[in-house]
Amino acid sequence: MEYVFDATPVQRRSYARFILAGNGEGNYDLRAMAEWEPESLRPWADHVALFDDAALGQLTSRGWPDYWWATLGASDASVDDLAARIAAAPPTEPYMPTTCTPPFARVYLLIGADTDRALTHLGDLGRERQVVRWICENNGLAVPPTGSAVRRFTRTPQIIADRYEPTPGLRTDIEAADILADPRGVGCALPLSVVLEVDLSLLDSPLKGTFPFFMSFCSDCEADEEILGYRGWKRDTDKIVFDEERDERCPGYDEGTPDPLTDVGLRPSHRYDPQTRLRSRSRDAGRLGGRPSWRQYPDWPGCCGQPMFFVGQIDIGHFGGVGGTSHAFACECGTATQLTQIS
Ligand SMILES: [Zn+2]
Ligand SMILES: [Zn+2]
Repeated sequence: MEYVFDATPVQRRSYARFILAGNGEGNYDLRAMAEWEPESLRPWADHVALFDDAALGQLTSRGWPDYWWATLGASDASVDDLAARIAAAPPTEPYMPTTCTPPFARVYLLIGADTDRALTHLGDLGRERQVVRWICENNGLAVPPTGSAVRRFTRTPQIIADRYEPTPGLRTDIEAADILADPRGVGCALPLSVVLEVDLSLLDSPLKGTFPFFMSFCSDCEADEEILGYRGWKRDTDKIVFDEERDERCPGYDEGTPDPLTDVGLRPSHRYDPQTRLRSRSRDAGRLGGRPSWRQYPDWPGCCGQPMFFVGQIDIGHFGGVGGTSHAFACECGTATQLTQIS
């Protein structure tokens, strides 16, 4: 990814054009540019919003799952046009999170525009069409009874980096026993570890309190614990209780727990900052905010009739686990979930 950020703006714009023309193989640069260098996509956003079926097919076949970021910031005129095309040829059931035929892809492109105008259309289209509503909800947009669709994520992610300037509110010295009613995993006798706890006031969201990222370091079953998929919980008085009933399948093998990360802080961007050398020695451990980087398919959990709010994600391998990405979601009601996808 570095070569994208170290390139000149003109090089980035032509690279974006190269990808959008259907070149390149399913790489993640399109999304990286949308998040950190959106101006490199801007010149093409309107053009992509109005792609015909053939051009759209090219883009989705090469750029899945991130192709839809290409319309970021599209003009109101092209957003209106895109919404009209969706209304004229809407996606139909069945809905699969992996489907990217043109009627589905156009809804994604409208989501990708991420403008107020796009959210207004998505609110209307989502109320008219159940399938559009499902696509919205599975990509973090709530469709309320009236008005625009509502983002259940922050627009700008921040990097969670270690060996950086520590941010108060990111803690790695939490004892699972202090916050869990029962510190053991669902299927293992060994206590879980809390590898990172995030103070939710760091996130521009309606959420309050803290979010703990749990991991298992049992040498026998850690993978089983990690790929549980959903690890949902609720705060019961002051301690956390998992949704799933305990079903012990592993006696627990403790071969030591990796040292917790040190100097964990929020880095505002991937952009190169010549003023600081911190970037060169810091390491990315995850992200706070933004949208989940699904590598299998979008799988956004809901609660209280709308998508949960996306807190952030950590790279499990970076914390000493087996690998994969753990996505964190929470609801204002106190329910939270950690959802892991192995890339
Ligand atoms: Zn175990
Ligand atoms: Zn809820």
